[in-house]
Amino acid sequence: MPLWRNARHRFRVAAVVPESPDVVSVYVTGRHLDRLPARAGQFCFWRFPGHQHWWLANPFSLSAAPDGRGLRLTAKAVGGASAALRDLPVGGRAFVEGPYGAFTSLHRTRPGVLLIAGGVGITPVRSMLEERTSGDVVVLYRVRSEADAVLLDEVRQLVDQRGGRLHLLTGRTARSGVPPFAAGSLHRLVPDVTDRDVYVCGPPAMTAAVLAGLRELRVPARQVHAERFGLA
Ligand SMILES: Cc1cc2nc3c(=O)[nH]c(=O)nc-3n(C[C@H](O)[C@H](O)[C@H](O)COP(=O)(O)OP(=O)(O)OC[C@H]3O[C@@H](n4cnc5c(N)ncnc54)[C@H](O)[C@@H]3O)c2cc1C
Repeated sequence: MPLWRNARHRFRVAAVVPESPDVVSVYVTGRHLDRLPARAGQFCFWRFPGHQHWWLANPFSLSAAPDGRGLRLTAKAVGGASAALRDLPVGGRAFVEGPYGAFTSLHRTRPGVLLIAGGVGITPVRSMLEERTSGDVVVLYRVRSEADAVLLDEVRQLVDQRGGRLHLLTGRTARSGVPPFAAGSLHRLVPDVTDRDVYVCGPPAMTAAVLAGLRELRVPARQVHAERFGLA
């Protein structure tokens, strides 16, 4: 399937846009992308032949809702492959495996939604905000400082367009001692949290803290959708 799909779509790098000193967005285009069954919130394994070893494939979420013309990933440089994305040649081939993942609006059960992102975990949340889905939206975006908030302007604009609420939660729990995702804090920020679908994406420790808070608040499991950015 991946071979067939790549032969059909002939993915290519259309643009590489730095978002901050350690975050870059890669725009990928191809043929017949309207036939690619991709949804906002999903992720793909991305290979860039000729730029890195062919066996290296890294998962990155779609950071923009697929529009039938192109795909976008946004990656933070943590190691060799993610750091090298900044130097991708425009026009070079891309090999895309996927999309995968159930972190999509297909699994909505309630009219209201709470989207929780930690750091670069904002990427699938950003793409879901762009979808034309109905319902009230609240976004909690956890970052060390506002300067670390990747794609913040886009997120602000999309939340505004949907008449939603964005809470930028800055700081470090280890220093402040105030856990932003404990049951009490979550309830203070989003009093009707139990009545919403909750999507969580971030580093494994943050995701675990959110899930524990939601359990304590007795948010039904069917309303909770999590994507962990850790690799098993
Ligand atoms: C489903 C999924 C979706 C993802 N989507 C995105 C995305 O949209 N944007 C994005 O920036 N990242 C995303 N990631 C994380 C991304 O895949 C990794 O950061 C990337 O593959 C690291 O590759 P590397 O070769 O550059 O680093 P490596 O050389 O593999 O690692 C370098 C260092 O970073 C650490 N590290 C590697 N991966 C992670 C990680 N996931 N979390 C914490 N530390 C790590 C390693 O332990 C090592 O110390 C996603 C991960 C998953 C599982």
